Amino acid sequence: MGPIVSLQDISLRYHSINGETPAVSHLSLSVDPGEFISIVGPSGCGKSTILSILAGQLAPSEGTMEVNGNIGYMLQKDHLLHWRNIRSNALLGLEIQKKLTPENIEYVESLLKQYGLADFKEHFPWQLSGGMRQRVALIRTLAVKPDILLLDEPFSALDYQTRLSVSDEIGSIIRQEKKTAILVTHDISEAISLADRVIVLTKRPATVKKIFPICLSITNHPPIQAREAPEFKDYFNAIWKELDVHV
Ligand code: ADP
Ligand code: MG
Repeated sequence: MGPIVSLQDISLRYHSINGETPAVSHLSLSVDPGEFISIVGPSGCGKSTILSILAGQLAPSEGTMEVNGNIGYMLQKDHLLHWRNIRSNALLGLEIQKKLTPENIEYVESLLKQYGLADFKEHFPWQLSGGMRQRVALIRTLAVKPDILLLDEPFSALDYQTRLSVSDEIGSIIRQEKKTAILVTHDISEAISLADRVIVLTKRPATVKKIFPICLSITNHPPIQAREAPEFKDYFNAIWKELDVHV
């Protein structure tokens, strides 16, 4: 089986009245089915732009792209609707796509149950913690059965402690559901603990600077325990150096 996502020599320039902004330059990347990829790079380098290209929201100025599956998109804010209860929020994506079949509703019910939200179905978003809300947002995304999940800094609105456990939960759910995932994050530890490969981008315009395949001696671990692996800090230091944030 070939890659599920393949970008070849992709460039993108934004046009505005002030001129042209090159955001992505000759970027190539392929992702295998079931792989979990983390993308890190300097702020403003073009990470969100890359996800928008993958989602088909922006057309690249140059290059070719192949995406062999349905895309699900998860953003920093959970975008839950405050007047809908949790069950009805989780069903929103299906409703918009007019796919509220009994099978799909049953699937959402089973996800809510499996991921600890069964007792909160009739609650409203404001009655839930930030972490639970992010779980609802993930279930809403999973409901439409995407093959590929794009996650744009989905944990950055959470405080540090919550962020640790929520990234752990969300990472485990994505593994369990056997999805392909592309996560953009500015948190190096999060990137390493969740991913099979960490892609480091250059500053704008983004291109791939270095790829780190992650192989930790603690296997079949929840991501949070991955941080205990002896190699963890070596990956951290190598990626930190590659990011070159002080330059
Ligand atoms: P990142 O997600 O890595 O922080 P973005 O992909 O959001 O970066 O943006 C990359 C660059 O492109 C930034 O310098 C940003 O200001 C610029 N940019 C983003 N969107 C637009 C737009 N619609 N028009 C012009 N410039 C944009
Ligand atoms: Mg961004």
